[in-house]
Amino acid sequence: MFRETSYLEDRVMITPSTQSGKKVRTLKALSFLTPYAKKYRKHLAIAIVSLLVGAASVIALGHGVRVFVNEGFDHKSLYPFLFLLATILTMACASYGRLFSVSWLGERITADIRTKALNHLLGLSPRYYETHGSGEILSWLMGDTTQLQILAGNSIGIAVRNMVTLLGGLSMMFATSQKLTLLSLLVVPIVVAILLAYGRYVRQLSTTAQSALAGISNAIEEMLEGIRTVLAFVREKWFMETYTHLSHQHLRATARHLHARGIMTALVITVIFLSVCLVVWLGCKDVQTGNLTKGDLTAFMFYAVVVASTGGSISEIMGDLARASGAAERIQRLLDETSDVVTLPPMLRLPDLKGDIAFKEVSFAYSSRPDSMSLCDINFHLQPGEHVAIVGESGAGKSTLLQLLMRFYTPTAGTITIDGIDLQTITPESLRKHIGWMPQEATLFSGTIRENLYVGKIDATDAELVEACQAAQLASFIATLPQGYDTPIGVKGVRLSGGQRQRLGLARIFLLDPPLFLLDEPTSALDSSSEAEIQLALDLMMQGRTSITIAHRLSTVIRADRLYVLEQGRIIAKGTHEELMAFCGPYQAFVRQQNLV
Ligand code: ADP
Repeated sequence: MFRETSYLEDRVMITPSTQSGKKVRTLKALSFLTPYAKKYRKHLAIAIVSLLVGAASVIALGHGVRVFVNEGFDHKSLYPFLFLLATILTMACASYGRLFSVSWLGERITADIRTKALNHLLGLSPRYYETHGSGEILSWLMGDTTQLQILAGNSIGIAVRNMVTLLGGLSMMFATSQKLTLLSLLVVPIVVAILLAYGRYVRQLSTTAQSALAGISNAIEEMLEGIRTVLAFVREKWFMETYTHLSHQHLRATARHLHARGIMTALVITVIFLSVCLVVWLGCKDVQTGNLTKGDLTAFMFYAVVVASTGGSISEIMGDLARASGAAERIQRLLDETSDVVTLPPMLRLPDLKGDIAFKEVSFAYSSRPDSMSLCDINFHLQPGEHVAIVGESGAGKSTLLQLLMRFYTPTAGTITIDGIDLQTITPESLRKHIGWMPQEATLFSGTIRENLYVGKIDATDAELVEACQAAQLASFIATLPQGYDTPIGVKGVRLSGGQRQRLGLARIFLLDPPLFLLDEPTSALDSSSEAEIQLALDLMMQGRTSITIAHRLSTVIRADRLYVLEQGRIIAKGTHEELMAFCGPYQAFVRQQNLV
């Protein structure tokens, strides 16, 4: 059926990339979080003190119970009441300190990880985004960081508190009755055996469930991006079927994980509490024979329950640790990703740009299709101030050529120079600052018209905004809007027409006022009257500056100083429109086909 199989395969393909082939190391999450936590030493110290005081107060509570049972009914002394009251108040304060400081720490650490990952993502080249869907990346940035937050902001705190409580509880149990304590400890090897036998299986199931969720994110993301196409082709049912299939996969994987985790927890709890019951029963006999006081037995029971519940929660914490370790691995993999656009020494920052551009035997193949050359042996030289146009059938390599100049990709062979400097030695940011790049469809962001214009020049004055919008034939439209430049345009500019979006994109370029223009015929989406006006503004702007335009219109090819005809990644002819019309058969055919005349 209509691409369904491959569509699903694409979604499910996410599994190998998000799921580590290697075994997820359970402690990975802890080593991953440590450098982030170090930054917050003060809060860490408050958290640790709260945890220790909290644990100590639980232990003290057991002693309070013992004193209360043994002496509290005599009405002779206030000591048992006061001791219990003080312990409970200390416990309450420590709980507040623990909850606030540990949770806050978790939030801060997660925010830092997210910031670092996002910053890293911005440094990667477009190639990365060809192999990783935005849904998948979002699931790492939001879902996986949440797993780490649960660990850092909750589970680790609980684990530390439980560990201290466990040791304290055990010592108090020992002090109360060695025999009963040793009997209780017999349960430990059984619990460890269950955790070891089941733990790895549960971790594997958790990773599979997470990967399935990433697949769902990707599918929804794509549906939202292409909502109009989905509606136009009446593909709602098809999409829902795809989604339902993915959702069932995720639910099945989650059910398997929860089932296994539930069984593990239930087994551990059953074993622990059965042994507590057995031990308490033996303890009652000791009270009857006078070996223990009633208070001792009550305190022992209290400590036994505390130790058992902390032990029982270990499997829960192990589960959190396993999930967070899977998440840490995925985020680490993202952080380890390097950009394939490498800047070679001396890593120049381009202070200004004259616009002398040369391609010397440049070839390029996209890494996803290494055997198919998108550009082959491209040679050309542009003097500053020249305007050239590139023509060619769709897929000939025109956009690829512009993208190489933008340093979105690195040539597979050959060199590109700009003002005589090898492009690869110029930092991408300093290069792009001087280029007005306009793809066929302007990319707008949610926010206001003003905010979208600031993309072109962050510190533009109001007068500059108006001037740029006038040049792009957008000012009169903005004047009709009650909120003017502060009108929100919706996600990706959905509240604007195609032409208005394009003009806004152009206004941005006008604001940038660059010495080099790389244009994918930005006026092709406009009606002919406004096209003519915008073209005039563009012509004025481009005077004395260099430009390469992918031509879709006759007016552009006629105006160009020189034309290059691209066919299957090669330049097959160059010259002016008249020259090419006179001698270049493929160009004549192209002009006729594209209705350029
Ligand atoms: P044009 O702009 O002339 O229509 P492109 O430069 O977009 O052509 O594409 C040139 C060739 O490179 C085409 O065969 C196209 O399929 C291929 N191509 C474009 N983008 C990618 C990509 N991201 N990954 C792999 N191949 C690509």
